Amino acid sequence: MSVFQKTGPLSVLHAFMDASRWRASADKEASVHNDMISLYVLETGGCEGCAMEVESLCGSAFALDRYGFRRVADPADADWLLVTGAMSRACVQMLERVWNAMPPGKSLVAVGACAVDGGVFGSGYATIGGLRALTQVRRSIPGCPPSPQDILLGLQRLAGR
Ligand code: SF4
Repeated sequence: MSVFQKTGPLSVLHAFMDASRWRASADKEASVHNDMISLYVLETGGCEGCAMEVESLCGSAFALDRYGFRRVADPADADWLLVTGAMSRACVQMLERVWNAMPPGKSLVAVGACAVDGGVFGSGYATIGGLRALTQVRRSIPGCPPSPQDILLGLQRLAGR
């Protein structure tokens, strides 16, 4: 058993150390990409576990740009829309606005089980059951939640890298 507690305030430090270790080994495979893919992230209501993992991936520990991805704050600058959460009814119009603001050639990526079909939330008075209730989900990254590493590997797979 480890002498370190994996819960409490130290868990944040452990998560950062784990990410740094993973990054160090993955760095060998990373290269500078000219074909940068811009990501806009939209949380649509769930437990926010997936949203937190995406936030972690976008933090300094992973240096996302080294893998050919960058996060943007304006959907008008985005190539891919990453959706997390079970798609609450209140967020459907927001999703439509964001999608319509993106330039042609855009792609939709469901991150986590909830974004695909509602996951543990399913459909009900507050949620519609994920993106599947609105459209065919062609691109997804499974997990509940997927770890930052899972999300990065999923993005690379979807980009064909
Ligand atoms: S897939 Fe799991 S972690 Fe992600 S929002 Fe749904 S319940 Fe939370």
